[in-house]
Amino acid sequence: MLNKLILVVALTAVAGVTGGFSQNRQVLAEAERVTQDRFTIGLRTPKGANVYAVRQPNAQMLAAIDKGLDDLFVIARKNGYSRRLRHRDYSVFIGKADRTRDSAGTYSPDIAVGAAQYAGTDYDQGGFIYAAGMVIAFNPMAFVIAEHERAYARVSDLVRFEGEHLVLFHNDRRRYQQTADHSQGGGHPILQ
Ligand SMILES: [Zn+2]
Repeated sequence: MLNKLILVVALTAVAGVTGGFSQNRQVLAEAERVTQDRFTIGLRTPKGANVYAVRQPNAQMLAAIDKGLDDLFVIARKNGYSRRLRHRDYSVFIGKADRTRDSAGTYSPDIAVGAAQYAGTDYDQGGFIYAAGMVIAFNPMAFVIAEHERAYARVSDLVRFEGEHLVLFHNDRRRYQQTADHSQGGGHPILQ
């Protein structure tokens, strides 16, 4: 389903030998390249996740991010995974929505990104696709979602879903590889 599409874009892993500040600069640059947004707001959720935004996010948005990570950590532990299960391990970029409704008219703030491996699939809008979220970096871990003004449960779902790719990358590389590309079918939730 189009409005459930969560895309992972393959990218060069950020080198682990550089300092944290340098890594964060690279991740920020990648997020700005992918979204064409400028993330001038930086803050933390009440539980400590890192948030970068175009506009100041409201309390519901931050709480929804925390809840999505809470849900992710519960299901990850249930699957026997233990690495990278702290809120502060995650950076969430909140970009501008490139659309707020899907083709069926449902509220669905999404981000337009290059079609890449989705070119020619049902998702392809003519060189780009609408993605609900996208992984930006694996180390440090970061992903982007769009601004929401309501439907905060959707935000929690997106955070959990993007987080699945990151948890799998750090805990179960084989399963990560099998589920990273949705263009061949398969979607979220991956972890049950
Ligand atoms: Zn996905």
